Amino acid sequence: MLAREQRRRVQGGVAGLTGEAFGAASMLEAMPQFELTSRESAVVEAVPHQLFIGGSWRDASGGSTIVVQDPSTGGALCEVADASLEDAAAALDAACAAGEAWRTTAPRERGDVLRRAYELILERTEDIALLMTLEMGKPIKESKAEITYANNFLRWYSEEAVRINGRFSVNENGAGRVLTMKQAIGPCLFITPWNFPLAMGTRKIGPAIAAGCTMVVKPAKQTPLCMLALAQILEEAGLPGGVLNVITAEKSGDTMGPLIADPRVRKLSFTGSTSVGRSLIKQASEQVLKVSMELGGNAPFVVFEDADLDQAVEGAMIAKMRNMGEACTSANRFHVHESIAEEFADKLAQRMDAMAVGRGTEDGIDVGPMINADERDKVHELVEDAVAKGARVLTGGESIEGPGHFYRPTVLGSVPKDARVLSEEIFGPVAPVTTFATEDEAVAAANDTEYGLVAYLFTRDLERAFRVVERLETGMIGLNQGMVSNAGAPFGGVKQSGFGREGGPEGMEEYLETKYVAMNLGG
Ligand code: NAP
Repeated sequence: MLAREQRRRVQGGVAGLTGEAFGAASMLEAMPQFELTSRESAVVEAVPHQLFIGGSWRDASGGSTIVVQDPSTGGALCEVADASLEDAAAALDAACAAGEAWRTTAPRERGDVLRRAYELILERTEDIALLMTLEMGKPIKESKAEITYANNFLRWYSEEAVRINGRFSVNENGAGRVLTMKQAIGPCLFITPWNFPLAMGTRKIGPAIAAGCTMVVKPAKQTPLCMLALAQILEEAGLPGGVLNVITAEKSGDTMGPLIADPRVRKLSFTGSTSVGRSLIKQASEQVLKVSMELGGNAPFVVFEDADLDQAVEGAMIAKMRNMGEACTSANRFHVHESIAEEFADKLAQRMDAMAVGRGTEDGIDVGPMINADERDKVHELVEDAVAKGARVLTGGESIEGPGHFYRPTVLGSVPKDARVLSEEIFGPVAPVTTFATEDEAVAAANDTEYGLVAYLFTRDLERAFRVVERLETGMIGLNQGMVSNAGAPFGGVKQSGFGREGGPEGMEEYLETKYVAMNLGG
């Protein structure tokens, strides 16, 4: 681990930060350092940088660490433990050991732990928001929005813990009885991505705790700090040791592989890319593990000629620019009726052009950096491909020179059907606009993807709305609104966007098994 004084500094730098070299004997030694503000360093320091196993914080057994970077400077924030295979095994051992006691803990007690954690997060929102912005890059206001969303899962499932019901019925022949009961599924493995460092955790952890499951969580190495902060809060809220175990690891596949193969595990829930999800499904098949997959998306945003145009543009800003476009639900392509496409694209370009890009910790920033240089370069490659095929850049279309990995909010008009930007997940602040002439054409274009997470639809015609909703091949639809995420609703996709649902009563079912008892009452 870095010494406390060394961890206060950030490598790289952006305007306003002061450069200062230091000669520490660590992996950070060769690079120029930049001061964090005292508040920034305080929130980074306040979170343990260790593994959380069996209710204790500990360093990795091999002593190795992972550097966490600030994407707005490209520099290092701190180091966290890099779990060895022994550490991962210890985390699963702890989850298994705690299983029976937690499963049989009173539902009200399980709910109360979640409720206390919810209250603690409310109290600490300012600090967690800063932490999130430092490790992930999104502007503070976006971090706060994520925290509200994430925390709602703790509150929702604190209320659901006491509503786990079975049923009782009389057999159709009148003789026997049918009794069903819901039981906690058992030890779970959770793997989460960097784009929503807290919410992708609470969507799984909330219902699992409420259901009486124990778990090992592995957050993305780019953004482990929010998950460590959550573990700290749940510990403070009274969660018994071993129920939640958090391991951070450099080599995710190597670390999680043996756990996925362990016959004691009962559930794997993954949020991330479709390619990694596909490989995890294969691994999970060995133990016939129950699996939830929240994977990539390529959301169509369809605007019919009868839509309220200003409402559609407002919805587009939310669907596209929430989380800087780094969301699985991000509108990936805008299919707009040919009669209004130009006006829509111009209005959208004006709004995008007015967005302030910069370090997310600064006031008035709307768009932070992308998570890393590779992601930014991939976004630019998609823009270049579209332009080479005839698309027009209405605003943006370029990277902003570093440090940090910034990309200008971009609107592309007249995007040809064969542009890669329409078929690949962009995961960045780029809005390609293309046109359609008929309803059938719009539906066919919207469904022309292997993904099926979410679609957005703007129309004032109620009959058309229902017709199109029924034909769209997605797990979720935003009708005249640019956001669907909601703790009380089932979030999830179809096709190669995955399976399983998070949120609402459906999210609880993922952590429960149904046991059926056939009862013979005699006579
Ligand atoms: P990713 O590369 O698939 O990584 C997701 C998580 O999987 C990270 O924790 C990663 O760890 C881990 N991982 C990578 N390879 C692994 C392996 N072989 N075995 C076990 N774990 C492995 O995705 P990402 O780049 O972080 O996130 C972006 C993707 O997530 C996008 O495609 C987005 O659409 C999707 N997403 C989907 C939803 C949804 O609800 N449907 C929500 C958010 C994001 P390390 O990074 O530490 O290696």
